[in-house]
Amino acid sequence: MMQTQVAIVGGGLTGLALAHQLQRAGVAFELFEACDRFGGRIKAFESAQGRVDLGPSWFWPGQPRIAALIDTLGLAKFAQYDQGALSFEDVSGSVQRGMGYASMSGSWRLEGSLVALIDALVSRLPPDRLHLRAEVAQIARSDAGVQITLAGGQSCSADQVVLAVPPRIAQALPIAPALTPAQLSALDAIPTWMAGHAKFVAVYDRAFWRDEGLSGDAMSRRGPLMEIHDASGRSGQPAALFGFFGLDARTRHAQQITLPQAALDQLARFFGPRALSPLAHYLQDWAREPLTARPRDIDPLRAHPDYGLPAVLAGLWEGRLQFASSETAPEMGGYMEGALAAAERVAAKVQSTYLPGSK
Ligand SMILES: Cc1cc2nc3c(=O)[nH]c(=O)nc-3n(C[C@H](O)[C@H](O)[C@H](O)COP(=O)(O)OP(=O)(O)OC[C@H]3O[C@@H](n4cnc5c(N)ncnc54)[C@H](O)[C@@H]3O)c2cc1C
Repeated sequence: MMQTQVAIVGGGLTGLALAHQLQRAGVAFELFEACDRFGGRIKAFESAQGRVDLGPSWFWPGQPRIAALIDTLGLAKFAQYDQGALSFEDVSGSVQRGMGYASMSGSWRLEGSLVALIDALVSRLPPDRLHLRAEVAQIARSDAGVQITLAGGQSCSADQVVLAVPPRIAQALPIAPALTPAQLSALDAIPTWMAGHAKFVAVYDRAFWRDEGLSGDAMSRRGPLMEIHDASGRSGQPAALFGFFGLDARTRHAQQITLPQAALDQLARFFGPRALSPLAHYLQDWAREPLTARPRDIDPLRAHPDYGLPAVLAGLWEGRLQFASSETAPEMGGYMEGALAAAERVAAKVQSTYLPGSK
């Protein structure tokens, strides 16, 4: 049986950033990730030409934690491509060009995709403390602290446990003694940011739309994509476009066989026939990822929710059971910056337990 000070459930940005901070503070941890990769909602399509983001693409000025982390890790950012005109498609499929400028101008991207951030964090952590394909199946309070049981049967005893998973995923975890109805409904009430969305990416030999003075940005009232952006790498390679679907998850799932071709047909309406022949394309439907989305998440969110950790979820089991994930951050909750803020909050709490005087 494993034994540690802090058991971290979830190897997305929150869990890994927390592990990074605990490592630097000299606090022992074990991190359990259910999937066969780290990163959670940070994921990329690995094309032969390079990685293209399938989860988050951007971070923004005024987000100090992500800027500092990228610096610390020696990674390079670049500006979202914003030269040229935006295109617009009305409900009938008629396309007009020159309808304004790139809508995400001023946003930052990460060289090598945001997975480079995950890889850099993982490379700085001791491999024997990080467990992939390690789905946490039960969390139980014990006399000495907490007991974590994995789906494969292995267990880990820890002083405390941090659930670095979206609140609705935490709500579905078997926890003993059971959370109160008020705690369970507080978790269930927090929607997982972007969990109901899907992205389509298409990789080309070159960013041919740029040659025609197009930014790659497009808005559509017809669909199936409602918003398209240039997703190319810094030097234009890999050359790629991505789009968010305007269809809700139920409609997407009913049309899943025809959807990629419909998306390519739409790219051709915007950018010409070359768009019909990508080197590769990929559809990432986050509503189909059981480690991200719960059935309630497939209903689209109308606005960015007010995030933060409800008081009823703070200080459980005398501080031995803590909730993290981006959605628990009161500022920038839902975003990567929120994930780092959540990790920072929990790391400070953990350190105040182990390092007296550091409160
Ligand atoms: C399509 C899309 C676009 C986005 N765009 C942006 C953007 O442009 N900018 C931005 O800042 N943010 C964006 N986001 C949000 C951003 O991805 C999240 O804020 C961030 O990745 C959340 O990290 P997290 O670690 O809190 O949660 P997650 O990434 O959800 O990580 C949770 C981890 O827990 C694991 N897990 C779940 N259950 C268990 C279990 N029982 N046992 C062990 N492990 C488990 C999961 O596999 C996952 O790895 C976007 C998200 C999506 C999906």
